[in-house]
Amino acid sequence: MKKLFVFVCVAVFLFGGNAAQAQVSESPEWASRIKAEGLNRSQVEEIAQFLTDYAGSRLTASRQKRRADSLVVAKLQEFGFSNPRAAFAMDFPRGGWDVVKTYAAMVTPYYCAFSVNPRAWSGSTDGLVKGECMLFDVNTKEDLEKYRGKVAGKILLIPSTRTYDINFEPLASRYTEEELEVLLQDNRGTARSRYGRMSMDYRAYMELRQLINEFYAAEKPLCVVNASGSFNVPGSSGVSYKAGDPEPVPEIAMPIEDHGRMVRLLEKGRKVEMELELINRFSDEREVHNIYAEIPGTDPKLKDEIVLLGGHFDSWHGGTGAADNASGCIVMIEAMRILKELGFKPKRTIRLALWGGEEQGLYGSRGYLEQFLYKDQKKLPGFDKFALYLNMDNGSGRFRGIYLEQNDAATAFFEAWMKYIEPLGFQYLSPRTTGGTDHQTFTRYGLPAYQFIQDKLEYGRTYHTVMDTYERLSLSDLKVDATIVAWLAACAANDPGRIPVNPAVEAAQPRF
Ligand SMILES: [Zn+2]
Repeated sequence: MKKLFVFVCVAVFLFGGNAAQAQVSESPEWASRIKAEGLNRSQVEEIAQFLTDYAGSRLTASRQKRRADSLVVAKLQEFGFSNPRAAFAMDFPRGGWDVVKTYAAMVTPYYCAFSVNPRAWSGSTDGLVKGECMLFDVNTKEDLEKYRGKVAGKILLIPSTRTYDINFEPLASRYTEEELEVLLQDNRGTARSRYGRMSMDYRAYMELRQLINEFYAAEKPLCVVNASGSFNVPGSSGVSYKAGDPEPVPEIAMPIEDHGRMVRLLEKGRKVEMELELINRFSDEREVHNIYAEIPGTDPKLKDEIVLLGGHFDSWHGGTGAADNASGCIVMIEAMRILKELGFKPKRTIRLALWGGEEQGLYGSRGYLEQFLYKDQKKLPGFDKFALYLNMDNGSGRFRGIYLEQNDAATAFFEAWMKYIEPLGFQYLSPRTTGGTDHQTFTRYGLPAYQFIQDKLEYGRTYHTVMDTYERLSLSDLKVDATIVAWLAACAANDPGRIPVNPAVEAAQPRF
């Protein structure tokens, strides 16, 4: 009892007298108008086609990404948002890289062209080249020495660690109610940390990787071939590279079927040869850019506070980064369009932020943090004006609710705001945290930044592969998601209070 009494006193001291605790939904009139615009007059299809087919892939710091940035800024201008712009976020140590030409085929024992994807930041062949394939099976430093002096001019096949097993699971799925119920349970203190063991394995792995890279640079194989992806769809990934380093050797990802065919032939002692033409262009671009646009706030006291809507716009190369993460950008742009089209006048400013550099380490959102919110152990003026961030980066599935990032003070806000969107399927407020994308840049500091609970559809088998294209988008799901975001943004922009910084994060990491 005594403890409880002390807590109540502290709570009153902290929050009493200011409006931090208000939780007010926007009016049912606005709910109707937002739903009508979002569901009956959706522009999701147009935005989706523009961001995928027309903008193309958007690897961080590539010329393709620069092109896509200017296309999107012009599109945001068309929608009439305030001040659409692409702006510097952070330096990018890898530099720019674009695919110019990719061709790969097996020519011995017979001809067969393959669908492959060069690994980002890997080098080029000297025009069309032909070479003999050999297995390159290195698991330890000692293994590496067996190959010294033997690989020049050869095409090295790295054995796959994956085997193909027939999968009886459905290709796409939605959350079941049972699965969602589990997410409602608070798992603080019970979630297993995987870091201890993984960090040891990871360190050893990274050391060996470094040695292998040095070996390639010294021994000059013609090309390195990795198994990545299945169903004849290559995956997308990058090699380790820093701008200014010598160009790495050419390296391609090949799906396990084609790769496996050649590995099995080699293991039976048969001769395998390939021909390749891989041309990739490095550039001097050293910057990550974010795209911004606003619907300015209208309340003299609140207009400097920001409700941020975003997702990362960069993608891996190959495909068009549709599920990952044009989908997030489509939803956030469409949510802004709905509000703009309806002439909604937010009290707080609603800002769209399409991040760059997420795939290589959340560069874009970290750049935003350092420019406006927090740098060098100090809060910047924007920190206390940060009202909310909604992030989307889990493919194109329907929103089922949101992860509240262990900030209990957020519950009452979302409970108030969700009233009119529950019938759209937004029904689950999970106290849990979720990871893997840009909201974490802000939750690390306790800021109210959230990622949705979202049906995964066929995300797992498609993202980071060349089949992440327009076809992977569920336009009907995206339409509902955008309506939900528009509504939540309207509520957050006009609520007299706002979600406080998570006190547990602040207390555990006293930075301020
Ligand atoms: Zn992503």
